[in-house]
Amino acid sequence: MASTQQAYLRAELERRYDRLESAIQAAAIEAQAAPAAPSLSNLLSEVDAALERMDAGTYGLCEACHDTIEPDRLLANPLEQFCLDHLTTEERRALESDLLLAAQIQQTLLPARNFAPNGWHVRYHYAPARVVSGDYCDVFESKSGLVFLLGDVSGKGIAASMLMSHLHATFRSLADAELPLERMVGVANRIFAESTMAGQFATLVVGRATHEGAVELVSAGHLPLLHLCAGETKSQGATGVPLGMFPNTNFPVFTFSIQAGDSLLIYTDGLTEARNSKDEEYGLHRVKAVADRNGNKTPSELISNCLADLHSFTAGAKPADDLTLLALQRAA
Ligand SMILES: [Zn+2]
Repeated sequence: MASTQQAYLRAELERRYDRLESAIQAAAIEAQAAPAAPSLSNLLSEVDAALERMDAGTYGLCEACHDTIEPDRLLANPLEQFCLDHLTTEERRALESDLLLAAQIQQTLLPARNFAPNGWHVRYHYAPARVVSGDYCDVFESKSGLVFLLGDVSGKGIAASMLMSHLHATFRSLADAELPLERMVGVANRIFAESTMAGQFATLVVGRATHEGAVELVSAGHLPLLHLCAGETKSQGATGVPLGMFPNTNFPVFTFSIQAGDSLLIYTDGLTEARNSKDEEYGLHRVKAVADRNGNKTPSELISNCLADLHSFTAGAKPADDLTLLALQRAA
C-alpha cells in the first residue's frame, strides 16, 4: 500500500481511537450502574489491533490468504481484515446489500430522467462499470442559469462513488450563491482537496448557460467538450488542472455562445478509452466522427447514436470503466 495511504489510514485510526475512548468515558458517566457498552470496547480493541498490525507491517493483508485487501475497501473501513475472496457468506451478503443500497442512493443523486429546463433539451446516459460509479453527472437550474456538470473521480467503486456524492453536495450548495464561475470552482476545489487524501482527484467540466445561449465553461483537466453547431463540431479542451490536485489554483473560464439548435456533448473516459477484443482504443477521433454525423439530432438521438457506435466497436467486450454521456441542446 502507498505510504501516503498508510499514513492517512493511521491518522484515521488514531482519530477513531480517541473518539472511542471519549465515547466510552461519556457512556460510563451517563449510566454509572450499567457496564461499559461492550460494542464500544470491542471496537476499541479492534482499532488497537489494527494499529498494532500497522507497526508489525501486516496491515492491509488478508488474514486468510495474506494477499492485499482491496484499497478502496480499506478506505471505506480501515478495520477490514479479509479480502473480497475470503468473506464469510454472511459478510458477503451484507456487503452486497450495502452496495445495492449505495447504488440506489447514487441513482437518486442523478438529474430526473424527464428534466426539461426552460429553453433546453437535456439527456444523459450513466452506466457504472460495477455496482456504483465514480462518474459525476448533474444538471439543474440555478439563479445564474442552467448549471451542467460532468466529472470523473479517480478510481472506481465505493471510494470513488463517495467522492462523487461529495462533489454533488458541494456544487449543489454553491450553485445558488451567485458566485462568478471561476470562484465557484475555486471554492469547490479547495473543499475537495482538503477533504480527500493525496492522490485522489477529479476531472470535471462545469458549465453555466443563460436562456439567451451565453455559456461559461471551466474544464478542470477533463476531456474536450464538443460543441455541435451549423455543420461543424468545435472542441473545447481543458482550461485547468483536475480538481483536488492543488488547493490554490485558478480555473480560467472560457465563454462562448450557443445558437438555437446547437448541442453540447460531454463524456467520460469510459467512452474514449473503451477497448475492443483486439485491445484497440475507441478514441476521441471516433467520438468526434459520431458528433460530426449527428450535428442536428436531439440529445436523445445523439446519445443513442454514440452508444450504438461504441457498441459496434467493442462488440460486446465488458466495459472496464464507468461510462457517462451528457448532451444538451438549445431549443430552437
Ligand atoms: Zn484473502
